[in-house]
Amino acid sequence: EAKARGRGRVVLFEEAMDASVQRRQAIEKDLREAIAAGNQFELYYQPVHDARTRAVIGAEALVRWRHPLLGLMAPATFVPIAEECGLIEPIGEWVLREALAAARDWPLESIAINLSAVQLRNPALVDIVQGAIMASGIEPRRVELEITETSFVEDEDICRANVAALRAQGVRIALDDFGTGYSSFTHLRTFAVDRIKVDRSFVAGINRREGGSAIIRAIVGLANARGIAVTAEGVETDGQAEWLAAIGCGTLQGYLMSKPMPARAIGSWFDAGIAA
Ligand code: C2E
Ligand code: MG
Ligand code: MG
Ligand code: MG
Repeated sequence: EAKARGRGRVVLFEEAMDASVQRRQAIEKDLREAIAAGNQFELYYQPVHDARTRAVIGAEALVRWRHPLLGLMAPATFVPIAEECGLIEPIGEWVLREALAAARDWPLESIAINLSAVQLRNPALVDIVQGAIMASGIEPRRVELEITETSFVEDEDICRANVAALRAQGVRIALDDFGTGYSSFTHLRTFAVDRIKVDRSFVAGINRREGGSAIIRAIVGLANARGIAVTAEGVETDGQAEWLAAIGCGTLQGYLMSKPMPARAIGSWFDAGIAA
């Protein structure tokens, strides 16, 4: 009886595997076509706010894929597949060029772009970034590249060399999803970054009655002591925003203040003089 049930489960599992393998292959094929077509990717921009004044001081570019049949797709559904099949490089370079060109004339201190681990270990990364900066005419210090510490698991030496070379050119480096890796604080001791982005799982855990979040307090304290900027991601309530501002977290991002929006929408915001 139990054995039969077990066998049944194996069959179901294999069918599910087949379905997910087929789905993955279909996405890979469609991604190749999207890159060839050249016009299926879009950037949304999420404002970054000063924690005390809530003024918009920056924006983060977040890629979307407008699939011809499936509609707008979130990065979680296609970035990992693009990384596995070698397609994240052309997508990532498009993101860089598009975001820097769009943001050059926005009244913002910084434009943030997410880099995949695959891009971070590419020896050509510095040239690619340099090329995008030159083409757009943006000042390098307004460019912030977001990396995650898990990127350093493979090819740590080239990753470190890329980070150092980019910073030497004036580009800023932010550690995204900070605190979710197993050695976040160790990484901070061993290499220099300009900003830490506190992962939204910690922000969601802020409980004001229990005195907030001990881990965020520790991160903000350490960052402020070292002159590293801090952004809290995923701020959804006034209580979170007020507590974060009170403990000295400099900038906030989250649905409370603003959601990611299409380039045209954020551009017309600036035209209307809403920000900065
Ligand atoms: P991330 O860089 O940590 O970006 C933050 C994510 O949290 C975004 O999701 C954003 O829409 C979402 N978010 C912002 N505020 C809130 C909030 O208040 N509450 C909640 N629940 N979520 C919030 P998105 O756009 O789906 O991006 C997911 C991830 O995909 C990003 O995480 C980043 O790791 C990756 N990604 C996005 N764009 C790119 C890209 O151009 N290249 C690469 N390599 N990765 C990208
Ligand atoms: Mg990010
Ligand atoms: Mg993040
Ligand atoms: Mg994240």
